[in-house]
Amino acid sequence: MKLAVIGTGYVGLVSGTCFAEMGNTVICVDNNPDKLEKLNKRIVPIYEPGLEILFQRNIDKKRLSFTSDLRRAVEESEIIFLCLPTPQGEDGSADLKYVFGVAEEIGKILQSLPNNEFKIIVNKSTVPVGTSTAVRQIIEKYNIENFEVVSNPEFLREGFAVDDFMKPDRIVVGARNPKAFEKMRILYEPFVRQGNPIFEMDPESAEVTKYASNSYLAMRITFMNELANFCEKAGANVEMVRKAMGSDSRIGKRFLFPGIGYGGSCFPKDVNALIKTSEEFGSPMKILKVVDEVNKNQKQLLVKKVKEHFNGNIEGKKFAVWGLSFKPNTDDMREAPSIVIINQLLDSNAKVVAYDPAAMENARFYLGDKPEYAQDQYSALPDADALLILTEWNEFRNPDFDKIKSLLKNKLIFDGRNIFDPAKMKELGFTYYSIGRKPVN
Ligand code: NAD
Repeated sequence: MKLAVIGTGYVGLVSGTCFAEMGNTVICVDNNPDKLEKLNKRIVPIYEPGLEILFQRNIDKKRLSFTSDLRRAVEESEIIFLCLPTPQGEDGSADLKYVFGVAEEIGKILQSLPNNEFKIIVNKSTVPVGTSTAVRQIIEKYNIENFEVVSNPEFLREGFAVDDFMKPDRIVVGARNPKAFEKMRILYEPFVRQGNPIFEMDPESAEVTKYASNSYLAMRITFMNELANFCEKAGANVEMVRKAMGSDSRIGKRFLFPGIGYGGSCFPKDVNALIKTSEEFGSPMKILKVVDEVNKNQKQLLVKKVKEHFNGNIEGKKFAVWGLSFKPNTDDMREAPSIVIINQLLDSNAKVVAYDPAAMENARFYLGDKPEYAQDQYSALPDADALLILTEWNEFRNPDFDKIKSLLKNKLIFDGRNIFDPAKMKELGFTYYSIGRKPVN
């Protein structure tokens, strides 16, 4: 099939590359000249494990190309995917200016095309219920009839995006036209050969499914964060509670890890967007307001612990930070707890030396040169008063503790991700704070 992907970010680049891998011809469009320059020089502009090899192979095979020319992409493609940003607007709702702006452009292009071939415009961005209809109305303004707007929300996880896209748990397709369903089925069949389902539904249900999934996961994490805070006060160990409760098949083991709050480009904005849309429809989801509030507080937790340890004054203290990205295996810094935590430390006149395996360049965009950036995890440590662990990258899990002890000024660790065993830390002579477990020293 001939496909266009508009917006070549985490979702667009992965989707476009994986569609090409299945033999489709994909033209990716972006309006960011720096990104396009990199893509056309065959540089993958994001950190995403497994993407590079597919990206290079499909460019070689001439199935994957990049352009700023939306007109050519629309003209040459039968299916046009919108993988555009839907950031949080000032009032919490999803800002749809990118989606609606591109829909207008597509309408104008379709109006000016000499032939009238059937086109499917697929919205892969996370958008509030009703957006498919709104996009349809925008395109109809240009007297176009031979098209369908499909809602096909994306569920990939950054860090596992290629695997998730190639072997999705499920595909959701929201449409009204049998021809569109059939085309989408043909496109996705190679990805669900193991038998995972393609759910076909109306566009409204598809749009709600995406928000429901992300909000539910955010709620699950938030439940564990509140539970962890309670366990700590009550003298329980949240990790033991987590494992025992997770082995109940009704609950399941995944997404029960307490920490320093969820971040990323999706959960915070999607929770807020669902709060807003549910209010607009007169059916407010009160539970999500609490989720958002508790999550914001959780991002303050680690610095509270740090300040309590130092009797309220951390002026002039130096903190080593391991991990900046909002989760491991990505360079994405959007809404990362590290931004809140590092800014709080700096605002209290402490110094910060930070290291992350992939997100240092993006971190500079969010944090500037206020923190120092270290070349590797150990060079962040010399003379630091404590080490803070903010992202659970695998390379932090089994470090050289003797080296840590020799480099840090104090044998003091604040672990926001519970990657170490408190008993072992005690044995090694560290003072160790974590989440939902008693501190040891
Ligand atoms: P992103 O910011 O990484 O990428 C968006 C891209 O669109 C950018 O490259 C930007 O330059 C480009 N763009 C903006 N306006 C454009 C225009 N007018 N023409 C062409 N290109 C344009 O965003 P993302 O993380 O890929 O997310 C895209 C959508 O998918 C969002 O709605 C998001 O909520 C959703 N989503 C994201 C993830 C994720 O893990 N990142 C997962 C599932 C769904």
